[in-house]
Amino acid sequence: MRPTGPIHLGHLFGALFNWISLQQEYRCYYMVADWHAFMSEYEDPALIGKYTRECVADWLAVGLDPEQSTIFVQSDVREHTELHLIFSTLTPLPWLERCPTYKEQLREIKGRNLLTYGFLGYPVLQAADILIYKATAVPVGRDQVPHLELTREIARRFNGLYYPIFPEPQPLLTESAKLLGLDNRKMSKSYNNFIALADSPEVVREKVRGMITDTRRIRLKDPGHPEDCNVFNYHRLFSGDRIGEVEDWCRNGRLGCTECKVRLARVLSDFLAPFQAKREYWLRDNRIKEVLKTGAERARTVAAGTLAQVRKAIKI
Ligand code: SF4
Repeated sequence: MRPTGPIHLGHLFGALFNWISLQQEYRCYYMVADWHAFMSEYEDPALIGKYTRECVADWLAVGLDPEQSTIFVQSDVREHTELHLIFSTLTPLPWLERCPTYKEQLREIKGRNLLTYGFLGYPVLQAADILIYKATAVPVGRDQVPHLELTREIARRFNGLYYPIFPEPQPLLTESAKLLGLDNRKMSKSYNNFIALADSPEVVREKVRGMITDTRRIRLKDPGHPEDCNVFNYHRLFSGDRIGEVEDWCRNGRLGCTECKVRLARVLSDFLAPFQAKREYWLRDNRIKEVLKTGAERARTVAAGTLAQVRKAIKI
């Protein structure tokens, strides 16, 4: 995950809950990709360190377990950048230029000059991040599958040119609950349409107040169409067995949208409160520093072993 902003509900439902369950089945590596953040934030990198710390605090708060999984920061394991250099040398430029997510990121990330040598090569760094642990599977969303294909192509090219060191990792696609952003677009830091895990009840209330509802509803007594309302989608996830009541009152014009949003803000804040308490715990007294130190040591042991094999294969 790139530390370029707060961790939000989109991350929680789209990735983190899945990551937590994968810990039972796999030996997992979870990395804060601060070099990837630097690739887009290089003109003003001041906040990367803060977001890195907070990102890890959120991961631990929601249930990633540093005993079970290796949790670390990319720049703490220098082997990633060395393997990146080696892969950069053997990756043909057209492979990068045709990568659909590269073009999408250029469109999505506003206000940054991303037409750089480094940014074009960020899928190569991703390949190094994955292959340095000889990963056999990567949990990705559908939009990330082309990146992973590129990783497989790089692995094949290396294996063919020198020595078969790398497995070809497979995507681990999982269906996750669909949670749109507050403005009905994909929830994203770039669109600033998210609810952060750390948002206070006041902030949540304010954000929910601005959500778009069923536009056909003008007066309170007008029957609502919850299936066309993003506020109702959120209720579905957070209101538990009271969802039937919300639906019934909406359809029969017995619940105003303002009151409906107040209720949503309340259940959302109740949902976030236990995570926020744990987050505070992890942010106190350098606890995160210890977790990351251990994680980096564990990661480095594996990464250094792979890199030694790579150097032997390329005879340098
Ligand atoms: Fe949406 Fe609630 Fe208004 Fe119905 S009452 S339209 S669910 S905000």
